[in-house]
Amino acid sequence: MASGSGSLMWFRKGLRIHDNPALEYASKASSRLYPLFIIDPHYMKPDPNAFSPGSSSAGLNRIRFLLESLVYAFANGIEVISPVSHTLFDPADIIQKNGGRPPLSYQSFLKLAGKPAWASSPLTITFSSLPPVGDFGSCEIFDVPTVEELGYEDTGQDELTPFRGGESEALKRLRDSISSKEWVANFEKPKGDPSAFLKPATTILSPYLKFGCLSSRYFYQCVQDVYKNVKRHTSPPVSLVGQLLWRDFFYTVAFGTPNFDQMKNNRICKQIPWNDDEELLAAWREARTGYPWIDAIMVQLRKWGWMHHLARHCVACFLTRGDLFVHWEKGRYVFERLLIDSDWAINNGNWLWLSCSSFFYQYNRIYSPISFGKKYDPNGNYIRHFLPVLKDMPKEYIYEPWTAPLSIQTKAKCIIGKDYPRPVVSHDSASKECKRRMGEAYALNQRLNGSVSEEELNGLR
Ligand code: FAD
Repeated sequence: MASGSGSLMWFRKGLRIHDNPALEYASKASSRLYPLFIIDPHYMKPDPNAFSPGSSSAGLNRIRFLLESLVYAFANGIEVISPVSHTLFDPADIIQKNGGRPPLSYQSFLKLAGKPAWASSPLTITFSSLPPVGDFGSCEIFDVPTVEELGYEDTGQDELTPFRGGESEALKRLRDSISSKEWVANFEKPKGDPSAFLKPATTILSPYLKFGCLSSRYFYQCVQDVYKNVKRHTSPPVSLVGQLLWRDFFYTVAFGTPNFDQMKNNRICKQIPWNDDEELLAAWREARTGYPWIDAIMVQLRKWGWMHHLARHCVACFLTRGDLFVHWEKGRYVFERLLIDSDWAINNGNWLWLSCSSFFYQYNRIYSPISFGKKYDPNGNYIRHFLPVLKDMPKEYIYEPWTAPLSIQTKAKCIIGKDYPRPVVSHDSASKECKRRMGEAYALNQRLNGSVSEEELNGLR
């Protein structure tokens, strides 16, 4: 970069000034910096019911989070550099090491990835020192717009996400998360409580990683630093570092798999004759399945834009291979719109996983919409919070309110079928039918080696 020149910094994902190699480079020896972020109307779909296929629409929570994250991210002879800093590894390198194909299991990914080259350097956080913002001539400079200016309606009446966007929030949350060495050292993802909402069981750093308000490399190094100071710690896949590696795993497979976000023409996706049932889909999306555990999670999704990983497991399994047998792509659209951490590679990767379409194939293992949540939260506090209509239901019935005698329903001011819906399906029979249909589809995929035609799928419908 010639001294005295100006640099244009196009912010896309890395909305931060710490550990941001592109920004560091742009700032070096430039006398002026022109920061640029494009608010792309393609993603703006203020209509709260815009779950249509093909639209990468974003809900109010995520747009607000983005705008909050932009507040600090301000930023002839243009030079373009785009170093990899959104992930721990460069997906292209991993794929190349694997002979041109992405590794399809976490373990093979770990073997190929090894330790990142930069990981042995001492823990530092480098904030780019920025030259002044360049002269924009006669162009009008606007502040970061409000959600209303982008066409979203914030009625202020609903409970909105408690998570605020931005780099300072990200770094504060990271500091809080790693402040207990013991918590970091003992972190075991499958042991976390998905119903914990006052103090969630995980870091909630996903929205900050999604927008690049937090560097995943810095997060990784901070955790490694804790590991150096404890006697023993957990390991991947369940450890905290293991979670970051899951993220890189899905980025790598998504990067190297054509049509990763669909069933058709996706070579790693089992072809399954999912039902096209708009009513069941709407009941799931609108938290009206009649299963309080499932509905409470869907309310948390709509209000907070974030739920615990195992809660996501439960609702994704319920919609697809567990109970409703609805296409995973339909659920993916709903998550894509409502999650504040909505991330193309991770969201699609996990829907492929949960629907037993790829990566994980034990379709006989189904989450019970009744007993799974009860194990963690026998009193149903999570349900009472997110579904206040059930707040007075005795704990004996809170996971299956349709079994409560009418006198109990009356006392709890919640009549099933009137104030809260009856179950849309019977879990016992629906899950048996799902297993049968998955078995048939798997057999066909095996016989035809994965290349199942539309006609053959129709034969299974
Ligand atoms: P922590 O447990 O604290 O983990 C730290 C970080 O590791 C996370 O912030 C995230 O970046 C990464 N991570 C953790 N679990 C996973 C995982 N299974 N796969 C990939 N990365 C992981 N995560 C998203 O970030 N965006 C999505 O759109 C998304 N969609 C999902 C859809 C489904 C159906 C399911 C089952 C999971 C999805 N996840 C998604 C993965 C996971 O649920 C979230 O990353 C996690 O719950 C975020 O909470 P946290 O930051 O507290 O996680």
